[in-house]
Amino acid sequence: NKQVILRDYVTGFPKESDLVFNDATVDLSVPAGSNKVLVKNLFLSCDPYMRIRMGKPDPSAAALAQPFKPGQPIYGYGVSKVIESGHPDYTKGDLLWGIVGWEEYSVITLTPYSHFKILHTDVPLSYYTGLLGMAGVTAYSRKGETVFVSAASGAVGQLVGQLAKIMGCYVVGSAGSNEKVELLKNKFGFDEAFNYKEEQDLNAALKRCFPEGIDIYFENVGGKMLDAVLLNMKLNGRIAVCGMISQYNLEEQEGVRNLSTVIYKRVRLQGFVVSDYYDKYSKFLEFVLPYIREGKITYVEDVAEGLEKGPSALIGLFHGKNVGKQLIVVARE
Ligand code: NDP
Repeated sequence: NKQVILRDYVTGFPKESDLVFNDATVDLSVPAGSNKVLVKNLFLSCDPYMRIRMGKPDPSAAALAQPFKPGQPIYGYGVSKVIESGHPDYTKGDLLWGIVGWEEYSVITLTPYSHFKILHTDVPLSYYTGLLGMAGVTAYSRKGETVFVSAASGAVGQLVGQLAKIMGCYVVGSAGSNEKVELLKNKFGFDEAFNYKEEQDLNAALKRCFPEGIDIYFENVGGKMLDAVLLNMKLNGRIAVCGMISQYNLEEQEGVRNLSTVIYKRVRLQGFVVSDYYDKYSKFLEFVLPYIREGKITYVEDVAEGLEKGPSALIGLFHGKNVGKQLIVVARE
C-alpha cells in the first residue's frame, strides 16, 4: 500500500522533503458489523488546513485540527470506492467522499457525517473533492449585497463568488496572478477582480472596486488584506472568517492594525468550521446540482496525476501555484 508519510513536524513553509513515500504492508481487513470499510482511493483533495496539521500540536488549534503523526500517513478529503464493507449501509462498488489516508487503500471507520455516499454520478467524480464536497459546503452568501472574496479563484473562492452572483450580489475577487484575475472576470462572472500582488495599495484597490463599501467579506487569506478590508467595510457589514492562509506558515501571526474599525462600523466578524454544516449536505446538493447540470456554475480544477505528485501539489497551495481546486488522481477506477 503506497503511502505519503509526514517525516517530522513542519516549521515555516513546508518542503517536498517533509513528505516521504512508503510502501507498507498493512492490515486491510474489515470485520462484519464493525462500521469499517476498505476503500480504494481515487481522488485526493489538497487543502490549506492540512498545513495546520503538519505543525507541532498547538493547544489553541487542538480542537480544530489534530496534528498528523510523524512517521504515519497524512490524511485529508478524498473520493473512494468501497472494496469491502463491514457497514450495513455500504456494499462493494459504492462510492463515497470524506477523510481518507494519502495512500492507495484505506480502512475507514464510518461515523455520522464522517463520510457521504455519492449518489449522483452524472457529474465528474472529482467534483466531490471540492465543488460537491467540503469546499462547496463552505461557500455561502446573501442577496443584493456587495461581496468581496479573497483567494477568489481557489476551491472555495470560485464557488463563493458564483453563488453570490446567483443570489444577485455585486461580487469582487482578489487573486495572485493575472491569469487568475482573467478567470474571475471571464469564466466565473465576477463583476470586478484585481491581482493583489500588483496593487501598491490594497486600500485604494478596494476603494476603487467598492466606492460605497463592502457589505460582506469572505475572508480566506488574513494579514494585510484583512487590514485593508477593515478600512472599507460598510456600517453593519459582516466578515465570514473562513481561512487565513497567509498566516499558516508563520511562526508568529501578524498583528491586525485596523481591528478597532469593527466598533464604530458595527462589523460582525464570525469564524466558522465547515464540518458544523455537514447535516445540511443533502440540502446543499439539492440546491447546487441543478446549477451545475445547467452549466450555470463553472468549476476549474487543477489536476495532478499520481500519488507521487501529492507533496508538490499540496505545497504549491502556499505559493499560489494552483489555478482552481487542487486535487490528485490516485486511480481513475
Ligand atoms: P485555494 O484553492 O484558494 O488555494 C490556496 C490559495 O491561497 C492559493 O492558490 C493562493 O492563491 C492563495 N494564497 C496562498 N498563500 C497566500 C498568501 N500568503 N496571501 C494571500 N493568498 C495566498 O484554497 P481553498 O479554497 O481550499 O481554501 C481557501 C481558504 O479557505 C483557506 O484559508 C482555507 O484554510 C479556508 N478553508 C476554511 C474552511 C473552514 O471550515 N473554515 C474549509 C475550507 C477552506 P493566490 O494566487 O490568489 O494568492
